[in-house]
Amino acid sequence: MDKGKIEITYIIHSDDSSLNNSDKELVVKSRETTSEAYAPYSSFRVSAVARMENGALFHGTNQENASFPAGICAERVLLAVVSSVCPNYLIETIAISYASNLVKDDYPLAPCGICRQSLIEYEARYTKRVRLLLTGRKGLIYEINSVSDILPFGFRPDNLIG
Ligand SMILES: [Zn+2]
Repeated sequence: MDKGKIEITYIIHSDDSSLNNSDKELVVKSRETTSEAYAPYSSFRVSAVARMENGALFHGTNQENASFPAGICAERVLLAVVSSVCPNYLIETIAISYASNLVKDDYPLAPCGICRQSLIEYEARYTKRVRLLLTGRKGLIYEINSVSDILPFGFRPDNLIG
């Protein structure tokens, strides 16, 4: 019998002052665009902003629905936007922020399980890691090298089609 061990390394920024200018811009835009979310049921507004390899920025916000399962998270809205509008360039980094009037919103949160699955599909599809900057309305920012880091044992396309 053997034991396995999984470890990830990520960078913790106490605020955006230690980010380079382009990462800071991404974080600021993710915080600003949480106001564009449609979240009348949870009041939990999320925005995901991608910087593409060509420098273009795209964002997606969560879109809730009275039929709850029909709602979609900001990260998957973003992937749909990017894949439709800018299919010839790849995502370099995604900043994800959220804001809420109901819960504490000044610390980083990570994408939900379904979004992690969608994001690693993107990494696998393009054979390219996607860097993440996770934050709340203000304060701490987690810098994560790859979506795969936050979904160990992820189910990947090659598990299905070889
Ligand atoms: Zn999600």
